[in-house]
Amino acid sequence: PTRIFSGIQPSGGLTLGNYLGALKRFVEKQDQGIETIYCLVDMHAITVWQDPERLRHQTREAAAAFIAAGIDPKRSILFNQSQVGAHAELAWIFNCIARMGWMGRMTQWKDKTAGKNAEAQSLGLFAYPALMAADILVYRATHVPVGEDQKQHIELTRDIAIKFNNDYGVNFFPVAEPVIEGAAARVMSLRDGTKKMSKSDPSDQSRINLTDDADTIAKKFRKAKTDPEPLPDTVEGLADRPEARNLVNIYAGLSGTTAPEVLAQYGGAQFGTFKPALADLAVSVLSPITTEMNRLMADPAEIDRILGDGADRADAIARPVLEEVYDIVGMVRSR
Ligand code: ATP
Ligand code: MG
Repeated sequence: PTRIFSGIQPSGGLTLGNYLGALKRFVEKQDQGIETIYCLVDMHAITVWQDPERLRHQTREAAAAFIAAGIDPKRSILFNQSQVGAHAELAWIFNCIARMGWMGRMTQWKDKTAGKNAEAQSLGLFAYPALMAADILVYRATHVPVGEDQKQHIELTRDIAIKFNNDYGVNFFPVAEPVIEGAAARVMSLRDGTKKMSKSDPSDQSRINLTDDADTIAKKFRKAKTDPEPLPDTVEGLADRPEARNLVNIYAGLSGTTAPEVLAQYGGAQFGTFKPALADLAVSVLSPITTEMNRLMADPAEIDRILGDGADRADAIARPVLEEVYDIVGMVRSR
């Protein structure tokens, strides 16, 4: 049976990239009637420093974003990772399955340590993919909707599942499939079309936040880096134009169309025309979500209640799986 798991780090406010690449897809899967488990991965967030009060706020705000975007906490399981201890426990076992070399080859590790002293990064940041594998496999999830940037981590999750099954001579963990869909599976920075849009980018101008107001959104798109040419008529014409391609893909993602369809409408248009149209579209999609998020954030106790209920339901699935793993590995279980 199909079971979907995915997560987002409360490492900052959610971005348009998180929305188009992940959250929007999460809602579609839920609405297709598939069993869906969605997690705010606070344990992942602390692989880089997080101020405690901000982390709590960002976790609740991310929960509000999920609900505002259409996640129904009755139909989906919605919770924060640290409330279900099985994630961290299985991650330890996976730390002993995965190899150092596998981790060192991860592009997220390379990107997040680029220009920094790798020796001074947290061990948790290096081991990140083992915890992510545990997040997924502790539910024996079969499908993982993610943005393009997480594809390599899902492949590593498959490698961990296969090695665990081989090492212990069992057929216990499924080999999870990444589900990467849509025109905006990789939304790029508004300041640099070769860099992924990220909530942790130091430049707020590089991203659209779900909490940005209409004026801010319009201004960020107006200032977004572009080249001086008009939009081409076909996607081939976007080949060496990363910034133009990014804005076209964002338009397609927001309108639920494709890049060719956007160019059929806007081919030949100047950015002076296209950018305001894109900003209007973004505001029309995001502003109802922002409004609902703000309404939900007025009652943090209710958000905490929802996360607690989700954690109880997640734990009921994860704990028996973990107990089986301990048994397979040879741990004495006598209480
Ligand atoms: P951070 O900078 O802290 O890593 P992030 O913006 O990369 O934050 P994550 O929490 O790491 O967000 O990722 C959550 C989900 O959002 C993942 O499925 C990821 O693939 C997706 N995602 C992140 N950035 C983008 C993007 N720019 N375009 C499409 N999907 C994205
Ligand atoms: Mg990320």
